[in-house]
Amino acid sequence: MDIKANEISALIKEEIKNYEHKTENADVGTVITVGDGIALIYGLEKAMLGELLVFPNDVYGMVMNLEPDHVGAVILGDGDKIKEGDMVKKTNRVMEVPVGDKLLGRVVNPLCQPIDGLGPIETKKTRPIEVIAPGVIKRKSVDTPLMTGIKAIDAITPIGRGQRELIIGDRQTGKTAIAIDTIINQRDSGVLCIYVAIGQKNSTVAQIVDRLRVHHALDYTVIVSANASESAPMQYIAPYAGCAIAEEWLSQGKDVLIVYDDLSKHAVAYRALSLLLKRSPGREAYPGDIFYLHSRLLERACKLNDENGGGSITALPIVETQAGDISAYIPTNVISITDGQIFLMTDLFNAGQRPAIDVGLSVSRVGGAAQYSAMKSVSSSLKIDLANYEEMKSFSQFGSDLDASTLKIINHGEALQEILKQDQYKPCSFEREVFELFIGKNGYLDSYPKEKVKEIIDGAYEYLSVNHRETIESLATNKKLTPEIESVLRSDIEGYLEIYNNR
Ligand code: ATP
Ligand code: MG
Repeated sequence: MDIKANEISALIKEEIKNYEHKTENADVGTVITVGDGIALIYGLEKAMLGELLVFPNDVYGMVMNLEPDHVGAVILGDGDKIKEGDMVKKTNRVMEVPVGDKLLGRVVNPLCQPIDGLGPIETKKTRPIEVIAPGVIKRKSVDTPLMTGIKAIDAITPIGRGQRELIIGDRQTGKTAIAIDTIINQRDSGVLCIYVAIGQKNSTVAQIVDRLRVHHALDYTVIVSANASESAPMQYIAPYAGCAIAEEWLSQGKDVLIVYDDLSKHAVAYRALSLLLKRSPGREAYPGDIFYLHSRLLERACKLNDENGGGSITALPIVETQAGDISAYIPTNVISITDGQIFLMTDLFNAGQRPAIDVGLSVSRVGGAAQYSAMKSVSSSLKIDLANYEEMKSFSQFGSDLDASTLKIINHGEALQEILKQDQYKPCSFEREVFELFIGKNGYLDSYPKEKVKEIIDGAYEYLSVNHRETIESLATNKKLTPEIESVLRSDIEGYLEIYNNR
């Protein structure tokens, strides 16, 4: 930092003039330079890291760098209103945002100010955006599922409340779609949702808000949006602000789902502001603490034990890859922080396999423990069956004679893949998921052409709900696949297939 001699002398003169005044008031500083959302400030000797600063015209800032001769701060809001020489006040408070139930159904900026034109939000409480994550003593292991309503995820990479599951893939592979469908599926689960949009187009966010409204999901959702035109500091604090909102509900023992869409853009925003703050660049020009940036955020996702209210924060961070490269810097960082990843592939997406989940590369390290027993029993062999199918599929492309066992694997795999295809905005109920996977697992559909799979499933489910409504209800409430239920399912499926074949 080089300060010009005449500036120093001007500051010293000012300092001498106000000597009495200044010694009384070490809470005030002067802007030396300002630009690109960053201000360097002289004075503020007692500033804390992360402290909220007040600039003239009600512009706020946050302390990011404490240097021997100056303080580096990011400007949250309209930086154009700040001039060199402006006075800056300390607030003795770390950065906080308003939280509470009043935020539900609203779209806010990272300072939790409304941007949806629906008037002010009257919240009484605020929370710091940066807190230390709950320690081990306060936590317990994940034991309740968070149903996404997406068959492939609930079966193969189940998510538990309190888990952090990464959604990763190239652009336009349906990453946001998975997160939004998961939010829509929480309608009757009592889970409150927060969607944090970082560096996205305003039109995309508007579309998401609209979709959530149409599916009656806005009532239990908050959208925190720092769009692409927002300054780097605003994009940087957005996920932390979202997490502060979540923590308020966590403290009330509630379950919360938070989506960070996406952390690659968050990392880029942080890189920009770090370089402007003159922190030294490291790999791919990211600053040295880029790992800590995301680990301290994702550690705040947790499942608390009963003494601490038993609430949970489930985090679904999203990361965008370039050309499917999951071994790049930010993807590997976030993969190592999270409890598993859902990997989406462009090839599958273009081939019509949507959601385009790569079953081989997707894992969930803790969610299995929370999976309902009915789901566990119908999905136990799914992953291996699909892996076998992938291996054998290449042979079928030669069109040569295949032996019976290979053909069986291929037919079974194709039927399963067909079952896992799912349209957007159509989350599946638990009992329906179990039913479909049950048909698939037991090979009822293997002998039918794949175009017929959806039709047969719809028909068979209809048949079951007419004949044995109580079986579906028992499955929905008890989440168990007892031998009795299994035999009802079998007899109804067989009954329906007989009708279908004789049509
Ligand atoms: P971006 O990289 O731009 O953020 P993304 O990976 O978040 O993209 P989406 O925006 O969720 O991808 O989806 C891309 C497109 O694919 C959208 O037009 C969406 O409607 C469509 N799509 C996503 N999932 C499905 C699905 N299961 N079935 C049909 N279409 C889908
Ligand atoms: Mg997206």
